[in-house]
Amino acid sequence: MAKKGGGNRVERYCAQMNEEAMHRLEMGGHLRRAIEENELFLCYQPIVDVHTRAVKAMEALIRWRHPTLGLVRPDEFIPLAEETGLIHEIGRWVLKTACKQTKRWQEMTGNDQLAIFVNVSAVQFQHERFVDDVKQALRQSRLSPSCLHLELTEHSMLRHLSSTLRTMDELRKLGVGIAVDDFGSGYSSFHYLKRLPATILKIDRAFIEQLHANASDEAIVRAMITMGRGLGLETIAEGVETPEQLDRLRDLQCTYAQGYVICPPLLAEEVTMYVTEKQK
Ligand code: C2E
Ligand code: MG
Ligand code: MG
Ligand code: MG
Repeated sequence: MAKKGGGNRVERYCAQMNEEAMHRLEMGGHLRRAIEENELFLCYQPIVDVHTRAVKAMEALIRWRHPTLGLVRPDEFIPLAEETGLIHEIGRWVLKTACKQTKRWQEMTGNDQLAIFVNVSAVQFQHERFVDDVKQALRQSRLSPSCLHLELTEHSMLRHLSSTLRTMDELRKLGVGIAVDDFGSGYSSFHYLKRLPATILKIDRAFIEQLHANASDEAIVRAMITMGRGLGLETIAEGVETPEQLDRLRDLQCTYAQGYVICPPLLAEEVTMYVTEKQK
């Protein structure tokens, strides 16, 4: 393994690789246990109408409360769940929990239009049972399919394009919505966008950040909204943090917004109060 001269560096590199592999293996074991021990839970962030501020939906965001490491964010453990195959079990649990919870909110608040957005990873979407999992979550929760929207990033949609298109068509036939998450951050061309049976574009936070200050960002967001409208897609701006950004989005005729300036992700029990307050 060790080459003449460069040996130390290669050895150090291998040691580091081993350490990383060990860490991943260890965390993989922890994640398996997390499922059994109910350490995973969902937070929910409101998505509101830009003009009226009425609550349209919630986005389910997974969290892991690790007994010693504390709160672990999805960006850290979802890739691990994908590598270990645990994503299928986790994803099924997210779908089921989020649909049931939404039906409960609808009944508690009398708002039967309240929708739920669920993030789906590319690996999960490729699974042959995925559409059945969605059907089962809808059946068990008695949630109307039109109240469920699945979020996939552009990047995941373009992986295995033909099977993705087939699955998307099946989901659309069920009446489930499909949102392109982090829109603008990937490599999708207009050619692909035209072929995707998506229903909603979620404009990536990177374009919203400087919206009020940067003319290029404003031009891009304006173009995304116009294009969305032309293609019959609604638009959601992600990561809205200031009232100025929200004002610009209103001027630009964006449909919905989501972000800290409106509301951070909430615990399930906090949502009932939030929705009830907003309906007053
Ligand atoms: P995402 O779907 O694009 O979710 C948006 C992320 O932005 C969330 O981070 C949310 O908490 C955060 N956020 C919301 N408002 C603001 C804001 O105003 N400013 C800023 N800076 N951030 C804001 P989170 O919860 O850490 O999730 C990160 C990513 O993990 C998600 O990105 C999604 O891709 C993935 N994820 C979350 N839950 C799930 C899940 O149940 N399944 C799968 N497969 N992936 C998930
Ligand atoms: Mg999302
Ligand atoms: Mg996003
Ligand atoms: Mg993201």
